[in-house]
Amino acid sequence: IIEVNNLKKAYGNNVVLKDVSFTVKKSEKVVLIGPSGGGKSTLLRCLNRLEGDYSGEVRFENEDLMNAGKEKLYQLRQKMGMVFQQFNLFPHKTVLENITFAPIKLKLASSEAAKQQAEQLLEQVGLAEKAAAYPQSLSGGQQQRVAIARALAMNPEVMLFDEPTSALDPEMVGDVLTVMEQLAANGMTMIIVTHEMAFAQNVADKVLFMDQGQIADSGSAEHIFKSTTNPRTKEFLSKVM
Ligand code: ATP
Ligand code: MG
Repeated sequence: IIEVNNLKKAYGNNVVLKDVSFTVKKSEKVVLIGPSGGGKSTLLRCLNRLEGDYSGEVRFENEDLMNAGKEKLYQLRQKMGMVFQQFNLFPHKTVLENITFAPIKLKLASSEAAKQQAEQLLEQVGLAEKAAAYPQSLSGGQQQRVAIARALAMNPEVMLFDEPTSALDPEMVGDVLTVMEQLAANGMTMIIVTHEMAFAQNVADKVLFMDQGQIADSGSAEHIFKSTTNPRTKEFLSKVM
């Protein structure tokens, strides 16, 4: 469903992605790990062309993002849900309105249908009783679960997560990871940047270790966490686990 070929990206003289290639199949869970500054966030942003100025190729559902016209790119982006470290909910809208806003605005659903779907999604993330609440009255973990529900309201084909739990108090992390584990179990295609190694080990079909703009090591969770011989991977894991 996603194919990345020889992706390169620089900010000025700083080459941030050197030569990155990988594929993601439908339903696959790919987890990106690696040291700070290694290029993980940049890579995620290239996947939906939030970052435009790259060389190499990113294909989504067989369409080359670079060659997609405005309209096409817009359509493709709608199929990629994105969840960041910062939840960025609309502060002056209720939880329900946060979730229904884009589908209604983009005329993907009637307001009644959008509302029904939002209620289902809130149920799914364990926040059915918060529909009428405002974001600032929620904990960070609750806000992040709303952000996930909001992304899901677009019926994405793929969900991209960039350290969704790293801004949260430790006691909030589990609830968000549980929601993500459920999504994974339901067959969602997911690309996840995380420092939660136990979670990574549980859900990943494939782990990519990114270091200095390259995929320095990759394989099954079993391989990366138990049997890799790559010294850089081992050193990184010894620091974070
Ligand atoms: P972290 O684990 O800290 O989130 P990361 O692996 O996500 O790190 P990136 O955020 O992709 O790393 O950053 C990779 C490199 O690109 C870093 O050297 C960073 O300074 C640089 N960089 C990222 N965004 C920009 C930008 N908008 N302008 C200039 N340089 C940038
Ligand atoms: Mg990052």
